[in-house]
Amino acid sequence: MQTLPILPSCGQPASIRIEVYSPDPGDLYGSLDASAYFCDLHAMSAVSAIWRAQLTPYKVEMAPDVQRRCGEVYVFPTGRMGGAK
Ligand SMILES: [Zn+2]
Repeated sequence: MQTLPILPSCGQPASIRIEVYSPDPGDLYGSLDASAYFCDLHAMSAVSAIWRAQLTPYKVEMAPDVQRRCGEVYVFPTGRMGGAK
């Protein structure tokens, strides 16, 4: 099963959401495996760590009504990290 690399986590309010994709032979865009949340300070190091783990980070804006902390991760049960593929 696919796993996430060690990511920064400082617990400050997050300003960015990063979708994490892993390669999936059955899906052109890859498998959407997780959403991870980071503050401005840690967004870049998180992106680098995800690339180094052979995963693809995709930065998306946070929804305005969503409050998350830097380092929070949500693993999609439908993705490879969730064990569905
Ligand atoms: Zn942070």
